Amino acid sequence: MGSELIYRGSENQPSSDSYSPKPVKPWASVTRTIHYLLREQRLLFVFVGIAIATLIFTVFPTSPAPYVAPHSRFTTLIPDSITYFPIETQQKFSSAHRLGFGSANPTSKIPLGLKRKGLRIVVTGGAGFVGSHLVDRLIARGDSVIVVDNFFTGRKQNVMHHFGNPNFELIRHDVVEPLLLEVDQIYHLACPASPVHYKFNPVKTIKTNVVGTLNMLGLAKRVGARFLLTSTSEVYGDPLQHPQKETYWGNVNPIGVRSCYDEGKRTAETLTMDYHRGAGVEVRIARIFNTYGPRMCIDDGRVVSNFVAQALRKEPLTVYGDGKQTRSFQYVSDLVEGLMRLMEGEHIGPFNLGNPGEFTMLELAEVVQETIDPNAKIEFRPNTEDDPHKRKPDISRAKELLGWEPMVSLRKGLPLMVSDFRQRIFGDHKEGSNTNNASSS
Ligand code: NAD
Ligand code: UDP
Ligand code: UDP
Repeated sequence: MGSELIYRGSENQPSSDSYSPKPVKPWASVTRTIHYLLREQRLLFVFVGIAIATLIFTVFPTSPAPYVAPHSRFTTLIPDSITYFPIETQQKFSSAHRLGFGSANPTSKIPLGLKRKGLRIVVTGGAGFVGSHLVDRLIARGDSVIVVDNFFTGRKQNVMHHFGNPNFELIRHDVVEPLLLEVDQIYHLACPASPVHYKFNPVKTIKTNVVGTLNMLGLAKRVGARFLLTSTSEVYGDPLQHPQKETYWGNVNPIGVRSCYDEGKRTAETLTMDYHRGAGVEVRIARIFNTYGPRMCIDDGRVVSNFVAQALRKEPLTVYGDGKQTRSFQYVSDLVEGLMRLMEGEHIGPFNLGNPGEFTMLELAEVVQETIDPNAKIEFRPNTEDDPHKRKPDISRAKELLGWEPMVSLRKGLPLMVSDFRQRIFGDHKEGSNTNNASSS
């Protein structure tokens, strides 16, 4: 049977031995595709899909994939999770951070799943007042933080709420000694900030500012990390320009009792710029004006902490000199926001970070009276040597280039600090408790 079938088939074959293919229809594949698309409304679904994708990428622009900076020598030393981001990427990320902290920037949402990987960040002086608030923000945004502190003025209590968090490490170390770490960013805050503390051992203050800053810059150079120096308005000394712009070179006594701090910070700025120019280290410089808030040392002798503690303890407020000297007081959460924007942004600085609201010490005493105790008395004391007469930041540069300005006025910020001081002085709350609410308000 099989052979018959084969035979019949062969009967239908053309008698000619030569093979002739089907005639070519040039448009056949195109028309087949068009027919396929037109059937069952497939084309409609394609257009709807395109429209949805366009909508999603317009409303939620994505950020490019992180990449490892070619100049970073750190690239060979780090695990995959630690990457370095180019400026454009960082700007998008920092916008995302701002969103995370409640500031409005509707153009910078990053879809879930495309969020940045955490950085590994060193905060020297991270157990201190400003440093501990900065650490809270960095941990909250998903970074790994290594605090390096010798606890001269800092306290474990300021960071102990992070103990047990695998993204947090605390190293007791003095920055005047070399330190080997592998990191992406260095916030260098280690240095006593209050006059009482920095005058306590002036030579040590100079070493911290000079040798400590040199070591952290050496570290930044070795691993290709970005380095941020927390300098100070004290670099303007007793200023002859008012308000102070970053271009002002200052009026500093090089041999006075404040010089260990003022000149120490000026040298730290010089070192920072020399490592930038000479070794290509990516640097940022912040000039911080008087800052207050929860976790300040209660007895550090600074005017805000003194007045608040005195008013709470029903002691007279000690006004030095005639009380007509001025300062501008910035709430700590504003400073931390400014420091992070500076680190993530593309500008070296220096940038003044301070609240331009200017108060005489007598006006400050009045605000403290209004906030805590209207019956608090004022007691005049002799002023300290070389006390600057006026201080008020011009923050135009930070406004323009960092998009930053303070949000918390003295009258709004002071009560937040008072409740922290009340808890610590009267012990009606565990010391070192988490003050995140205050710091991020
Ligand atoms: P702070 O004294 O509370 O914190 C400084 C931290 O650095 C402390 O934890 C201290 O233990 C640590 N530290 C000091 N010397 C060290 C060393 N040699 N090695 C390691 N750690 C050391 O002061 P703060 O108010 O948090 O100031 C932080 C930074 O900001 C300082 O660099 C300060 O100069 C600068 N700043 C602060 C203000 C302000 O008003 N708070 C103003 C201008 C500048
Ligand atoms: N340094 C450090 N950690 C590092 C690299 C350097 O503490 O990872 C210190 C180093 O001990 C030196 C300082 O930083 O005292 C400056 O280092 P750099 O390499 O710039 O200069 P050099 O070591 O050549 O003097
Ligand atoms: N001051 C004051 N009473 C105090 C402590 C300080 O009147 O109990 C004055 C001090 O003389 C200075 C100003 O407040 O004029 C700010 O002093 P602080 O030590 O807070 O900061 P800095 O002098 O570093 O700006």
